[in-house]
Amino acid sequence: MEDRLQPAFAEVLRRNPGEVEFHQAVREVFESLGPVLRKNPQYAEAAVLERICEPERQIIFRVPWVDDTGRVRINRGFRVEYNSALGPFKGGLRFHPSVYLGIVKFLGFEQIFKNALTGLPIGGGKGGSDFDPRGRSDGEVMRFCQSFMTELYRHIGEYTDVPAGDIGVGAREIGYLFGQYKRITNRYESGVLTGKGLTWGGSLVRKEATGYGSVLFAQSMLGTVGESLDGRRVSISGSGNVAIYAAEKAQQLGGRVVTFSDSSGYVVDEAGVDLSLLKEIKEVERGRVSDYIARRPGARLVKDGSIWDVPTDVALPCATQNELTEADAKQLVANGVRAVAEGANMPSTPEAVALLREAGVLFGPGKAANAGGVATSALEMQQNASRDSWSFGHTEDRLAEIMVSIHDNCLATADEYDVPGDYVVGANVRGFTQVADAMIALGVV
Ligand code: NDP
Repeated sequence: MEDRLQPAFAEVLRRNPGEVEFHQAVREVFESLGPVLRKNPQYAEAAVLERICEPERQIIFRVPWVDDTGRVRINRGFRVEYNSALGPFKGGLRFHPSVYLGIVKFLGFEQIFKNALTGLPIGGGKGGSDFDPRGRSDGEVMRFCQSFMTELYRHIGEYTDVPAGDIGVGAREIGYLFGQYKRITNRYESGVLTGKGLTWGGSLVRKEATGYGSVLFAQSMLGTVGESLDGRRVSISGSGNVAIYAAEKAQQLGGRVVTFSDSSGYVVDEAGVDLSLLKEIKEVERGRVSDYIARRPGARLVKDGSIWDVPTDVALPCATQNELTEADAKQLVANGVRAVAEGANMPSTPEAVALLREAGVLFGPGKAANAGGVATSALEMQQNASRDSWSFGHTEDRLAEIMVSIHDNCLATADEYDVPGDYVVGANVRGFTQVADAMIALGVV
């Protein structure tokens, strides 16, 4: 990081003690920004850097609910409304026991730049709770969501803040949240949440969008060196929303998907993952990866070790933050990996990213590669605003156009800053300048 950025970074550390994931996300962006500040003195004059690191609003609240045995439970809810220079705050809700303010802030900070990269009018925000939906009945999840929304509703709205899903928050949770919002406000305000069901305001392709988009981004990167996914081995981590639809698009483009995982281990299926079986287990039964092994001869489950030890041409980390370490990156490079596109948010550690970039691997950072999800959320908002619903083909075409434009804009920005092919710098600089210019235009607010 250049010296001129050190005071602002020191202030981030001082103001946000112990929030290591947030520090990591800020450092990663700052490391790209030295040349931008030199070229654009107006950003320093308007203290854009200092302002962009401080969320516009942070909300923390108690979420009391009653479990199936009648016991009262307490969780903590968060919504960090980070930056609304480009549009209403927009970003998902994560329900996972690891959630605390530092995780929500890292995700919200990344979201600002990701949303700017889509070119659509959306600001950045993120929220969630330390509630663990795993093993909870539908009734418990519903009561939790209703309690969560009973506080959150006063802070959100289609022109204010528009949450969506993330880890642990899928169509079921969005349904319960939307139902409670509708009841409390007495408004059918479809545009207040995205990721809705198709019969009540949702958009076709939203479910598929993050995974599809990440694969389209990988395909664009491979295209710059005259290659493609066709006939390639593809390794995917996770088996949730992003992972499943990354696998689907990779298979459509001729790739052979050989891995997936959850927190109990990873599966290697050399014949190519049976997606309809995986969807049945994960989307319908809410089962574990071991259920796949039991029904798929030839596939094996590995409980220890790293999924990135499996030789692959294209790696798509789609589970969670910091899941791909320096040792993993070394192994991937030793096995001849061609491209890594991040479906998850910040899944690669800084050391892993540095190693992959130095080794000349095509590396698509999450804020560019996984932006297809939020982009399609913005398309869902457009459909809600016009009381319209688009066909699958039309929506997928829009998603594909957006992913190509994010890819090309990252490359053009990297060229402009004399780091050709560096998608990390391209994404950070392009996202930052879009937001910074809007912040200056809007004055000191
Ligand atoms: P899901 O909850 O649908 O799936 C998450 C998957 O990752 C599950 O298979 C889960 O396994 C696994 N996982 C989570 N934590 C760990 C861990 N510590 N070790 C191993 N596996 C783990 O979430 P999504 O697919 O929606 O999100 C995945 C990633 O993509 C996140 O980083 C999210 O922020 C990012 N993302 C999501 C978007 C979206 O549209 N949904 C948009 C952009 C980014 P288990 O069930 O065992 O916990």
